[in-house]
Amino acid sequence: MKELESELEQRRADGLYRKRRIIDSAQGVETRIDGKSVLSFCSNDYLGLANHPDIKQAFIDAVATHGIGSGAAHLINGHSRPHEALEQRLAEFTGRERALLFSTGYMANIAIGSALLGRNDLVYLDRLNHASLIDGARLCDARLMRYRHNDFTQLEALLGESHRDQRRLIMTDGVFSMDGDCADLDNLSRVAAEHGAWIMVDDAHGFGVLGARGAGLLEQLDLDQQQVPILMATLGKAVGTAGAFVAGSEALIETLIQQARPYIYTTASPPALAAATLKAIDIVEKESWRRDKLGESIAYFRARAETLGVELMASHTAIQPIIIGDNHKALQVSNALFEQGIHVTAIRPPTVPVGSARLRVTLSAAHEREHIDRLFEALNSVGISA
Ligand SMILES: *Cc1c(COP(=O)(O)O)cnc(C)c1O
Repeated sequence: MKELESELEQRRADGLYRKRRIIDSAQGVETRIDGKSVLSFCSNDYLGLANHPDIKQAFIDAVATHGIGSGAAHLINGHSRPHEALEQRLAEFTGRERALLFSTGYMANIAIGSALLGRNDLVYLDRLNHASLIDGARLCDARLMRYRHNDFTQLEALLGESHRDQRRLIMTDGVFSMDGDCADLDNLSRVAAEHGAWIMVDDAHGFGVLGARGAGLLEQLDLDQQQVPILMATLGKAVGTAGAFVAGSEALIETLIQQARPYIYTTASPPALAAATLKAIDIVEKESWRRDKLGESIAYFRARAETLGVELMASHTAIQPIIIGDNHKALQVSNALFEQGIHVTAIRPPTVPVGSARLRVTLSAAHEREHIDRLFEALNSVGISA
């Protein structure tokens, strides 16, 4: 294994080495990590639900009734009453005919392409798509095409080169996970419809936070199942639990149940998790103050950044990256912030393009103004401001 050691050494030299910190507290704004109390600005727990007492209680109550393990895959005997109830709730919440649960978003994304496309078909990806969508496209037999970020004109040209007898699937992040901007879905879905292509939106970072009820970017843009036939979203971010789902037509969901290997050949997630998620969806829908408060924090953060000369990206979501550029520098800034009790991870290639290493700051409904002030004081002291 000598060659592995030298590869790891090279990775370190390139500033690409990744290291895990150990968290001892529950997820939240104030956490205990690597033995230090810090303010966290890098969780995807956008609504502050990951440690919510009512959701925890729902989980505990369901463990009492349903136990812990599901025991088998959904198609054997692992599909429990809470799983079924959650699927119905998610379908109704997103305004789709049906929904199907997956153990993780990564698995949902690798399931879709391989279940729907064959070797004669084509899959189109935005260049800034999440790694799981890229892997989903790579792991299916269809030919992979990539278009420039949100460039529906280039996508249209690429679609024009294909044949109508080929199945064509466009896959895009809804909210781009590392930049925080949104897919231009009005145009993308129009282009898809004009060319008879399918479009799939991964709303991992929009579900729960966007839309008046929190049903995500498609609710915000008022795009229905006809316009966006495949919706995928995750439950481990704003919803505060874990897992993911795909929502769409009866035929889509039935096809996934019959054909999607990452659905068929894996043990169903614990039933209690579905029960906890049901509770979490109720809170997401009812407590719109969480979205309002998050929106106020985003506006405050951006205003502070402008005053202090910290350059931001064109994002109006909870994801507010600060581009550093160099890998070593990004790591160094992140470590210096950690020393001051502020936790923001450095995101480096291949998660983001080479030369665009960044601090991926994420905001939560649980942040107060005073927390954001502390972040900017720390950024200022490590030299990130004009
Ligand atoms: C987090 C994420 C996923 C993966 O979801 P998991 O449930 O964490 O596996 C997929 N797509 C996007 C855009 C994500 O940010």
